[in-house]
Amino acid sequence: MELVCPAGNLPSLKTAIDNGADTVYIGFGNETNARHFMGLNFNESKARQGVEYAHSKNKKVYIAINTYPQPSVWRRWAEAIDSSVRIGADAIILADIGLMEYASKKYPKLNLHLSVQGSSTNYEALEYYYENFGIKRAILPRVLSVAQVKKTISNTPVDIEVFGFGSLCVMVEGRCILSSYVTGRSPNTYGACSPASHVEYIQNETKLETRLGGVVIDSYSDNETAGYPTLCKGRFKSMGSTYYALEEPTSLNALEILPELNSIGVKAIKLEGRQRSPAYIKTITKTWAEAIKQLDRGSYKTKKEWNQALAEVSEGCQTTLGAYHRSWQ
Ligand code: SF4
Repeated sequence: MELVCPAGNLPSLKTAIDNGADTVYIGFGNETNARHFMGLNFNESKARQGVEYAHSKNKKVYIAINTYPQPSVWRRWAEAIDSSVRIGADAIILADIGLMEYASKKYPKLNLHLSVQGSSTNYEALEYYYENFGIKRAILPRVLSVAQVKKTISNTPVDIEVFGFGSLCVMVEGRCILSSYVTGRSPNTYGACSPASHVEYIQNETKLETRLGGVVIDSYSDNETAGYPTLCKGRFKSMGSTYYALEEPTSLNALEILPELNSIGVKAIKLEGRQRSPAYIKTITKTWAEAIKQLDRGSYKTKKEWNQALAEVSEGCQTTLGAYHRSWQ
């Protein structure tokens, strides 16, 4: 299985490659990229250096251009595709149908992957992208059980990549506009849910309050670790109690079902976290590379220390198998 790791800058890309990634996925520092956070991401020159570094080690780089362009700024997205081709990216990851059309017509040999932001959860949808744009791979949204992933794989010629580790949200990838209600910016067009420009940490007498667009998302006492304020993961007062009304902060960890994912034909495992530090990238890449190596040796058993290492860098310090293990789906 191919291990696809995140990088928000050149040091992270090198860290991922040096610690066992087969491929690193990156994005440009603008709205074309669904991790459009200040101080992160690549310009063309840095991306070229990243591709050269990866290729010198026989590894690959994919570029995510996975937001949805508005008509007035279409050129910026088309330019991101042109730029990816210039620097020799091994594939580009797209969600928008118009961009798929542009890329497949202008660069017929370019490898196109369907982003998780495309929200395609069944083989009929994948068929559409395959027939019309010749996609080579699709990254499935984190809403499917293992049985559903298996059914999709059995009915499509498209290679399937799934998430193995990383932050979870309420799982309407490519369709969530929740944070735009308080920031005025949609993650799907601007490229950032909870943009840092709208985030505040305010210490009052008893609590540390986190806010997004002026709205209180959570408050923490001295002995609690404050998280980054995300609207779907806030603690809100509802019907007399204060709790995680939408979702508790947690991370997906699919190490336990890695052999199963391999046996049903998953081609690649994606790790989430382009917005995280090189130290995070090192931990998750090293852990998953070791697990995949052990799987290849035919003697797989999830090690306690792997789960511990991942739990330490997880959201809310807890992990889940998410939708993978839901038997009712
Ligand atoms: S608000 Fe939550 S569910 Fe929506 S994009 Fe942001 S993190 Fe995901």
